[in-house]
Amino acid sequence: MRSQDYDRLYLSPPHLGRHELNYVHKAVEDNWVAPAGPNLAGFEADICAAVGVPYCVALSSGTAAIHLGLILLGVGPGDEVLCPSFTFVATANPVVYLGATPVFIDSEPDTWNLCPERLREAIVDRLAKGKKPKALILVHLYGMPAKLPEVLAVAQEFDIPILEDAAEALGSEWQQQPLGGFGRVGVFSFNGNKILTTSGGGALVTYDRVLAEKARFLATQAKDDAPYYQHSQLGYNYRLSNILAGIGRGQMELLPERVKRRREIFAWYCEHLAALPGIAVAPAPEPAGSRSNRWLTTILINPADPNTDGALARALTPETLRLHLETRNIESRPLWKPLHLQPLFADAPRYGGDVCADLFARGLCLPSGTAMGEGELRRVKEALTEALG
Ligand SMILES: *Cc1c(COP(=O)(O)O)cnc(C)c1O
Repeated sequence: MRSQDYDRLYLSPPHLGRHELNYVHKAVEDNWVAPAGPNLAGFEADICAAVGVPYCVALSSGTAAIHLGLILLGVGPGDEVLCPSFTFVATANPVVYLGATPVFIDSEPDTWNLCPERLREAIVDRLAKGKKPKALILVHLYGMPAKLPEVLAVAQEFDIPILEDAAEALGSEWQQQPLGGFGRVGVFSFNGNKILTTSGGGALVTYDRVLAEKARFLATQAKDDAPYYQHSQLGYNYRLSNILAGIGRGQMELLPERVKRRREIFAWYCEHLAALPGIAVAPAPEPAGSRSNRWLTTILINPADPNTDGALARALTPETLRLHLETRNIESRPLWKPLHLQPLFADAPRYGGDVCADLFARGLCLPSGTAMGEGELRRVKEALTEALG
């Protein structure tokens, strides 16, 4: 990437530190390229320490972690799984891999995450239709903690296990407790665009030793305990390599620093974009008790802004802003397109109104990479100022 285009400002590019190469170097030197080795064990221990959970299994992607997590929760053909509509498609795809159906739930406007009232409505209605949802996937979008006490209470009331998709929320907290440890199973992603990366990777965390062992077993082709290759169950090849785990160990050392920088970037945008007409940095402020890693800073076009005249409001869409930023070689992206609006999920049941559809229609993600300096932030502000001028 660096050799292609020095000038381009990317949304959330990888940001490596000084120690990743040491871990990778050691693995190569020791010929420990495979199988699972010290970097893998070290990376898992680092994640356990950061998240405050006893067990972690490092995997080839966050999607793989969601897939295995749903299997651990017993999801199978014909089951229904509750899932926010406002998320990346990887949250829901593994539901379909298992022959189950996602049931989509709208967002609440404060955090943009799963609405607890809509959740309750959905569960009551599915029960009335004779089907109890098998699991709930809870996402913390853009790093912002969902309404945990309310969601946990509903899940507990109906005894539905939670898979916490914290792919975007490594380093975020609720009441000083790291996200990822609030469900039966938690999931992280170390994809190239996330706050930390192994180029591609993921992790499953849990408090349950039996579940962790099962995840490890399933991730390595489900080999029975026999001297020959014997398999009684369907397995997967989902383990992270010892090489990539080395990158992960170097990255994990940087987590507090990276969270601090993402939050500074968010605060910078809040301060410096405040006077621009027609847009607002959102969701802000953080609800009490929440600490978001502010993985991506997002803005909403606000047609009700008193500083915006009617003509500007009508002309302004996320796409006009995105295209203008593009002329200045700045990458920006629309918010996640809600899954209930995806052709792939046209037939899936859904509960709620237009909260997330409206956010999608008005929102844009701004460059938020931790390597950005003041000069680059100013470039984004100038480009937005031009577009809104
Ligand atoms: C990135 C992401 C995933 C998938 O992780 P991969 O490592 O890319 O497979 C899942 N859920 C959400 C919300 C994500 O942002």
